[in-house]
Amino acid sequence: MIFFLLGAILVSFLAERISPFNADWNRNKNDGVRDFFHAVVNHLTMIGFMTAVYYLFDVIKIPTLQVWPRTWPFFVQVMLALLIADALMTFAHYISHRNEFLWRLHSVHHSVKRVYAFNGLMKHPVHKFFEASCGFIPLFLLGMPVWLGFFTGYVAAIHFFLSHANVNMKNRFLSKSLALASVHRFHHLQKRRSAVNYGIMFNFWDMMLGTFHDDPKAVLVTEELGIRDYPDYPDDYLSQMIIPFRGWRSKSE
Ligand SMILES: [Zn+2]
Repeated sequence: MIFFLLGAILVSFLAERISPFNADWNRNKNDGVRDFFHAVVNHLTMIGFMTAVYYLFDVIKIPTLQVWPRTWPFFVQVMLALLIADALMTFAHYISHRNEFLWRLHSVHHSVKRVYAFNGLMKHPVHKFFEASCGFIPLFLLGMPVWLGFFTGYVAAIHFFLSHANVNMKNRFLSKSLALASVHRFHHLQKRRSAVNYGIMFNFWDMMLGTFHDDPKAVLVTEELGIRDYPDYPDDYLSQMIIPFRGWRSKSE
């Protein structure tokens, strides 16, 4: 599966060069090395999460409800898992904009100075673990097979590139239904509680919450991104790991 992930990175990188949404966002802003560390730690966090899941549900076999429809066709099970995990992770994302500590963890993801594919992996590992736990532990407790969770998790990981790629996507049907970069980049404007487009993979939940926003003609620039009340947010990797625990209080709306 790691090869699918690397393939997604390569395809996103090429698409960003061929048809960029904002050409300036293809230029390195002293964030290349830092984002590489984010990508590696993000992936190691997921391996740690999957190892813990495997140990809990396949080795010591903690009790589950055993109501997952294991006999349904593989594709249907994957879609069901994606829909439920997406709803749970979208809700986790929504409350991460409202709870102070979760916001400090999530602010690492919002500190970007450009929106490009690698941003999909730019998350504090504690918040990544929180997001994955919210999305997938309930499914395992329902009795979903561990291998299906792993497969679905990788599909979600590949989608994180699509939801941040600096690509000028023109397909309005896909933009309306999937949380692609064409709508998710609006989420990275300088807003916190009043942010839009929280969806991780689909836009249904934002449409239900009234937080969906789309504007195909919008032109977004670097100055509109980031965290409004923390313009000097640290750029380096180690500082970004520490900053959620330093107790700053955001006033952003
Ligand atoms: Zn957010």
